[in-house]
Amino acid sequence: MPELPEVETVRTQIAPVLEGRRFERVEIHDPRLVRPHEPAEVAAELEGERVEAVERRGKYLIVRFESGRALLIHLRMTGSLRHSDSGLVDDPHRRAVVRLDNGSDVAYRDVRRFGTWLLLEPGELEPYLAAKVGDEPLDALFTAARLGARLESRRAPVKAALLDQRTLAGLGNIYVDEALWRARINPLRPAASIDRNELRRLHRGIRAALEAGIARQGSTLRDYRLPNGEAGSMQAEFKVYGRGGEPCDRCGTPIARTRVGGRTTWFCPHCQPEWPAERQAARSSSSLPARSRRRSSV
Ligand SMILES: [Zn+2]
Repeated sequence: MPELPEVETVRTQIAPVLEGRRFERVEIHDPRLVRPHEPAEVAAELEGERVEAVERRGKYLIVRFESGRALLIHLRMTGSLRHSDSGLVDDPHRRAVVRLDNGSDVAYRDVRRFGTWLLLEPGELEPYLAAKVGDEPLDALFTAARLGARLESRRAPVKAALLDQRTLAGLGNIYVDEALWRARINPLRPAASIDRNELRRLHRGIRAALEAGIARQGSTLRDYRLPNGEAGSMQAEFKVYGRGGEPCDRCGTPIARTRVGGRTTWFCPHCQPEWPAERQAARSSSSLPARSRRRSSV
């Protein structure tokens, strides 16, 4: 599933293709893409719109039109965009095509068909996104303190809390595992138990993992492709994701596999212990009954 680095890579490549161009003809072949609206109606509404900018928020691609409307695209599991100057080759998984006013085509392909296109009227975009996604992790406003404020009331495992798009926008199964390895935090730790030092490491780890993904144009495991048809290369750089049994880059311990919140999860049992040594000591002494603690201090 495309996460922030993949969607950002798509945005970087599709923005110069779309910006300033007018949607001349739009075909939507799959009703699921625009449900509950009628494909023909949405296509007709999109025709004639001129693109002002292509932005990203979390895993959403935002095509902003000069009219003030916006097309919100979510690629979900297997969605991708493909640009062609010279006609499109046949593709059984093509769900929509936009012919631009320079004669080139942007096709939307989606094998699993979970992706969505939502056309929003002026003024609807910000409230819609505000209800769905939290801070942008690469934004200057996102700090370790803000991350702490989002986690401190959560009893869920830290991994589950980070997968919640309202905690932080754009992280999915891959980059959460990678960020937690970088931060040396066990994915099962209760979110509220992450202390200040760990928060700083986690904040740094999240950014480093995402930046590494963007630098390698995302990770292609199955379907993800750039708009020019190329694959990303981040999959060759994973520290833990999908690497069960392989040695940890930091300590050589075999990477372990578990499940957190129903998601397969990879981590290093040595670098990411369930309770760090210093916390383990504090925890066992405070859990002793008062009497035995007194006795042991004599
Ligand atoms: Zn390790």
